[in-house]
Amino acid sequence: MTESSNKTNNASTISATNTTNATIIDGKQLAAQIREQVRLDTLTLNGKGIKPGLAVILVGEDPASAVYVKNKVAACETAGFHSELQRYPATITESELLGHIRALNANKNIHGILVQLPLPKHIDTHQVIETIAADKDVDGFHISNAGLLMTGNPLFRPCTPYGVMKMLEAYKVSPWGAHACIVGASNIVGKPMAMLLLAAGATVTICNSKTQDLAHHTRHADILVVATGRPNMITADMIKPGATVIDVGINRLPDGKLCGDVDFESAKTVASAITPVPGGVGPMTIAMLLVNTLEAAHRSQAV
Ligand code: NDP
Repeated sequence: MTESSNKTNNASTISATNTTNATIIDGKQLAAQIREQVRLDTLTLNGKGIKPGLAVILVGEDPASAVYVKNKVAACETAGFHSELQRYPATITESELLGHIRALNANKNIHGILVQLPLPKHIDTHQVIETIAADKDVDGFHISNAGLLMTGNPLFRPCTPYGVMKMLEAYKVSPWGAHACIVGASNIVGKPMAMLLLAAGATVTICNSKTQDLAHHTRHADILVVATGRPNMITADMIKPGATVIDVGINRLPDGKLCGDVDFESAKTVASAITPVPGGVGPMTIAMLLVNTLEAAHRSQAV
């Protein structure tokens, strides 16, 4: 933590003269290191007759989901995993989908099951997640995995917040005693992120769309994690000088370019470290999916 990050901040402390550029947290490079380690560990596991297996279910034709799924399957192949992609039309019934999940729960070659979200409106997402066996829930969304995380004994940590924790660790940003502010409170990012940071010793503030005076909270954060899906909503004047800024958002602009929830160009002049979009949290999410699947394969050996 830098000295400046420990000072109480207000808008007036951030000025145009503060032009120190932040360290760019390179998620692509860190993810590549983690993926290489997973590949090596997989070779060891292969020697014991086990090949980690991930099944990915994609329902419908959402183009963004199709790209995410393609990347996940390709990452499995590079890691030496067995992977299965099951694609179903948007018209699939909930009970048919649940049937496919139950078959995968019983399949000994499959250690991890991932259902790409969002699902079509007629399918109850909660029901789908709860049908995945908790010990194959490598996304960490099942209620028992959420409960284990909350009570401090996690089995599978949700991949995106888990990736953020790995980034903080790699860049030696300690949450211990720090004030962490999380903007966004979804079950898949914001809430588990809060639990992980709390467990790591941070004092945590969680903001949502109803938060009054958002900037008041963000400006007090030594670690600011943003996951709202609102392009460039966090600007330099909302960031404490010297803070570490983690931008989880992935937004497609009308010109086709990707951007995060943080206005990167202005934020990097105030923060001490910041993730870019793309090339920040996104690659880490996939790397941690592999880590969780490998862990599931290891655990299957123990039972
Ligand atoms: P959700 O839409 O599920 O949740 C968004 C959260 O942000 C909600 O809690 C919402 O509040 C809050 N929010 C929305 N607007 C504001 C606002 N103006 N001020 C404060 N809080 C606000 O999104 P996800 O968590 O699924 O995803 C968030 C972003 O992260 C998206 O851009 C998504 O694409 C990206 N993402 C990236 C991943 C990666 O690998 N990098 C993985 C997963 C997601 P409320 O609860 O009040 O509605």
